Amino acid sequence: MLILVVNTGSSSLKYQLINMDDGSVSAKGLCERIGIGGHIKHSASDGRVYEADRVMANHEQAMEAVIELLTGSEYGVISDPDEIDAIAHRVVQGAEVFPKPVVLDEEKIQRIYDLGEIAPLHNYAAAQGMWACRKCFGDKPMVAVFDTSFHQTMPDYAYMLGLPYKYYEKYAIRRYGAHGTSHKYVAERCAALMGRDISELRIVTCHLGNGSSITAVKGGKSVDTSMSFTPLGGVIMGTRTGDIDPMAIFRVMEKENKSPADMVRLCNKESGFLGLSGVSSDSRDLHSAAEDGNDRARLVLEEFRYQVKKYIGSYAAAMGGIDALVFTAGIGENDATCRAGVCEGLEFLGIKIDPAKNAVRGSEIDISAEGASVRTFIIPTNEELAIAKECAALVFGR
Ligand code: ADP
Repeated sequence: MLILVVNTGSSSLKYQLINMDDGSVSAKGLCERIGIGGHIKHSASDGRVYEADRVMANHEQAMEAVIELLTGSEYGVISDPDEIDAIAHRVVQGAEVFPKPVVLDEEKIQRIYDLGEIAPLHNYAAAQGMWACRKCFGDKPMVAVFDTSFHQTMPDYAYMLGLPYKYYEKYAIRRYGAHGTSHKYVAERCAALMGRDISELRIVTCHLGNGSSITAVKGGKSVDTSMSFTPLGGVIMGTRTGDIDPMAIFRVMEKENKSPADMVRLCNKESGFLGLSGVSSDSRDLHSAAEDGNDRARLVLEEFRYQVKKYIGSYAAAMGGIDALVFTAGIGENDATCRAGVCEGLEFLGIKIDPAKNAVRGSEIDISAEGASVRTFIIPTNEELAIAKECAALVFGR
């Protein structure tokens, strides 16, 4: 069975064609600068790579280009689009409307589009991607898998924000979280690696990448998560502020005469690692700069670890204890210094990692020190495979 996983951004479209028999990726790629020019990179699993500028006026043209590459004689991996059994779309915001993945029809796509009201940076683009696929693939089964679904089990006292209640009722403003597919996947892998039933475990999952979120998973359910109304909340990230006192935003607006739209851009694209350090949004660049004596790069790295550490402590409190800690995503999987810094000082909770085991990169491994009562793991996330599996289960019952 072949499933095409599609992840649409406002000017981008990422795709992976996954063979569900063994979970392997037959081909993957990225269309960028859609609507403002166009660039495609496509790789087949046997190493053939196509990369070129190509004008794509909209997502439909991008999808046409993807189908052409997937089926073409030079870079293709299938001979006919009909060989694809289903299409799975990643959607950032499902809100309370979509607590689970759904098989798409026109009405559901429209509801996803309408949720763009609370997720303008993500949902409009996701719906455009779905409409583009409809045009290119006709009635082929399509599924939407939401980043927010896994967090729909949070209790109200964890998801309500301290604004007047009427804004929850009128505008659906509350904590939704994100990266749900990843948190669910690594929590389930963690239970499997421990040989325990997830229903009896308290796990803190740390998805630390360009965007980062930390989740408290109790009995296999998300009970709290650091991202909030949008993926801007929580810890400082590559270019996002994370949680800050809203008064700080009003002060900058006032002093610099900025509009709400300016502040959305500033808080999402110009802040976090990049804005604080003035160096880069990429943690590898920050490590090099810190080694060269750049004090603001050092500050960012320390601040990030400190904030993640505080979430682990608060989620252990929220769950009445902690049995396992998981690191995943770009930083979580690859940055040993970050993992060591986060865990340092958490011995009082039973968290202690082995420096030699922690020195690995990107493999599924238990890095706990001998005698630690909390098991700490690195578990590489695989959001696309998790999305494809949800799709296969929903459409084909397997
Ligand atoms: P996204 O949220 O875009 O999916 P990723 O999960 O790919 O992001 O994570 C990107 C982050 O991972 C970047 O900050 C990058 O510097 C970091 N990263 C990747 N490899 C390493 C590494 N070897 N050491 C430290 N950080 C790394």
